[in-house]
Amino acid sequence: MKRGLMNKWKKLRKLFLLRQKAAKQYNDAIDDIQKLCNHPNVAECDYIPESGKVWGGGTAIPPHRICEVCLLKEPGWGSGYHKLAHSDRTITRDCLFNMTPDTSILAQDA
Ligand SMILES: [Zn+2]
Repeated sequence: MKRGLMNKWKKLRKLFLLRQKAAKQYNDAIDDIQKLCNHPNVAECDYIPESGKVWGGGTAIPPHRICEVCLLKEPGWGSGYHKLAHSDRTITRDCLFNMTPDTSILAQDA
């Protein structure tokens, strides 16, 4: 092994562990916010109809709702929605699943 490479690997390992720790703290913080949020801004994406071409199994994908403030997601169908109210605001599935936290609420405390 080239000289100095072991130290680079040790540094990478340390950063990897820090990233894992930060990800857990991030997810815990999101969980805490979702428990307290009253989900004021809900959006919904449509279902994906059954299609053997895309999914191979012929299973439709249910619609989802998301609180745009805390990012709580809830699938439709089955037992239905329990946490997020109906919304007339429709967004794409990509938009819903790639949404990032709306931190504009922090500006209200400034
Ligand atoms: Zn919410």
